[in-house]
Amino acid sequence: MIKVALAGNPNCGKTTLFNALTGATAHVGNWPGVTVDKREGLYKKLGEDIKIVDLPGIYSLSPYTPEEVISRNFIVEEKPDCVINIVDATNLERNLYLTTQLLEMDVPIVVALNMMDVIEKNGDKLDIEKLQNALGVPVVAISALKKQGSQELMLEALNAKKREPKTVLEGTKLKPLIDKITDELKQNEELDNVLYHSIKLIEEDEIEIKDHKLQVTMVEEFKKETKIDTEAMIADERYKYIEANYSVCLKKANEGKVRKSVKADRVLTHKVFGFLIFFAILFAIFHLTFSENFLFLGGLIDDDWVSFEGVPILEGILGEGAINSPGVIVTNLFNNCVEWLFGIIGGWFENSPTWLNSFVNDGLLAGLAAVLSFLPLIMILFLFMSILEDTGYMARVAFIFDKIFKKFGLSGRALMPMIMGFGCSVPAMANTRTLQNQNERTTTIRVIPFFSCGAKLPILTAIAGAIALRWGANADLITFSMYLLGITVAIIAIIIMRGTTMKGESQPFIMELPDYHKPSFKSTMHLLWHKLSHFIKKAFTIILASQILVWFLLNFTFDWQFIPAHEGVLDVDSSILAGFGHLLQPIFTPLGFGNQLGKNGWVFIVAAVSGLIAKENVISTFGTLAACLVGAAIDVEADGGVEAVTAMMTSTGITAAGLIAFIVFNMTTIPCFAAVATAKGESPDKRTYHFTLLFWIVASVLAATTIYLIGSWWWTTFIIIAVIALAIIIIKIINGKNKDDNNYKDGDLFDVSKNNSHHCCD
Ligand code: GDP
Ligand code: MG
Repeated sequence: MIKVALAGNPNCGKTTLFNALTGATAHVGNWPGVTVDKREGLYKKLGEDIKIVDLPGIYSLSPYTPEEVISRNFIVEEKPDCVINIVDATNLERNLYLTTQLLEMDVPIVVALNMMDVIEKNGDKLDIEKLQNALGVPVVAISALKKQGSQELMLEALNAKKREPKTVLEGTKLKPLIDKITDELKQNEELDNVLYHSIKLIEEDEIEIKDHKLQVTMVEEFKKETKIDTEAMIADERYKYIEANYSVCLKKANEGKVRKSVKADRVLTHKVFGFLIFFAILFAIFHLTFSENFLFLGGLIDDDWVSFEGVPILEGILGEGAINSPGVIVTNLFNNCVEWLFGIIGGWFENSPTWLNSFVNDGLLAGLAAVLSFLPLIMILFLFMSILEDTGYMARVAFIFDKIFKKFGLSGRALMPMIMGFGCSVPAMANTRTLQNQNERTTTIRVIPFFSCGAKLPILTAIAGAIALRWGANADLITFSMYLLGITVAIIAIIIMRGTTMKGESQPFIMELPDYHKPSFKSTMHLLWHKLSHFIKKAFTIILASQILVWFLLNFTFDWQFIPAHEGVLDVDSSILAGFGHLLQPIFTPLGFGNQLGKNGWVFIVAAVSGLIAKENVISTFGTLAACLVGAAIDVEADGGVEAVTAMMTSTGITAAGLIAFIVFNMTTIPCFAAVATAKGESPDKRTYHFTLLFWIVASVLAATTIYLIGSWWWTTFIIIAVIALAIIIIKIINGKNKDDNNYKDGDLFDVSKNNSHHCCD
């Protein structure tokens, strides 16, 4: 079978073409580095099957990045029958830089000029025949998005012939050296791509230096004699040649459009406005998704208008005298449907034995409903994120935050997942795919739960409310500080991880700013469906199983007796879970909610465990458990759980420091099962995933203990700050010793439209 590889710059439309050719639905994004591994598919429209391989996007064939290594090795070692070099016609010069390198190889090449629809729309004139003659390989104009020209392209690829490799460095001072090394390498009969290898060797490519030790001395001697920096010269000459011979094929109708995007970038990546606009957009997204007071119409709507004879109508759309945001409306309507459906199913078991009824209703259906309630939020947040990504805005955000994030050892791309974490960890973790370095990704996934999600907010407000009631503090201030505390823990954890187990240079910022695009409806929908189906699959397997387990532990005693409810109050004191709670209690003593709370202290531990299902459960479990303690039902819906927390405070004597430590513990410990399942899916291997779980446990124990110590004995603050500072200094010192120089500049930006310097990777 014929094998054809797709190679090209990041963002040139490889994946779009791959999908169009093979009917696959791989993720397309206006974001460099979306394809990080190669992907295979079949093209079937020409009688015989042609295997298509989508390679990661690359700027050059030097092994600077993992993507470049993958693509280079594939072409050199697996010898495809033809390489289709996809060239973004709107960024001709930059894209052809790679082409000049591919031409030096022996492999047959067809150039696919993509984005021709944009060229046409702009009224630009591209002389295809002239370009084809200049390049010496077939050139086919296509539009991957509009599915134009792909059949013609594949015909060319099928007929592509072996050709003589050629280089644009013919007329340069390097020519004699190239010839000399080529002759030397030709002695070795086995070696293909001789011209390519010798030029890469002169470029001082690491892989080539290792493979051809003998010839390296020739390059070194040449450099000494002529004082030429060969690597820089090769890059320069390539661009000079492109400008003189290829770029002339394109006549732009008006430069206006380019200027428009440059103008936009001047504002969007501005030192001040860039950030302001970003926070405004962020606020808008969160407002649209989570707000229960849409457009701040709060006071304007009278509850009477929306109830009919005392019965509220339009429930879910309007609430508390305000309009809900679209996100909340969809969530409410969806949850109402689920509730209605599950109500019917649950009703079938009304006359069954109590344990079965409880199992179906409180275990199975309640668990499923809790998981499914994530769906609308995930969908909506993802929709916004993929729009931001597809338009090209996300690349600008990553750019402006890169400098700040570099200080902590992460790239600017980590920002978005972290911010999404304030909404929900599940989509946030999945969104880390835009981080290319695996260690960076793992680090980010681990700290995402520290950015307290929407479901943790009730824990914060209930406990803050109870503390405020008892000790007269400001509840909002407590809640807000808890958010800041989460961020602080995240930063400390990032610095420590990136200095120890999760080392590695963060991605040098050689990402070009992609052009602004209108997002494609179809690809967005594909992406959405992909994520959702993933989540639904997990909801029905691992998450559900875990929930049933917790239900079982909460409803059965150690001698397998089902615990019946007394007047709506569950006597959980005798449950297996309570037993475990008692058992675990000593462990939590340093955290402030262990043995010092006496015989009722296990309630906090059980509540934290129930939070593993969904963090919302912590407060509803508080309600259940507080009811056991005081012997009367407590409605947590009515006051957000303040009464329940107060009841637990009274019967356990927990201190304010202990309560704050409890919040911190819940914020930083293992997140809900949905997030855990996502973290598992996004981990490269089992080991990393297990360490992630361990990390969360250790982080939460340390963070909560620290807070408890500081809250109980203020002078411990100094000791703790000293310990953290010492740890960071030691890591810095140890790492400082064996740090390589890296010669890229922070925030290096390559944007052809903005300046004339062409060195994207230096
Ligand atoms: P890759 O990084 O090379 O795989 O590029 P993608 O396939 O992910 O495409 C990058 C962006 O370019 C996406 O927003 C695509 O919708 C867009 N795109 C791809 N091909 C075309 C095209 O022919 N015309 C236009 N207008 N946009 C395209
Ligand atoms: Mg791609």
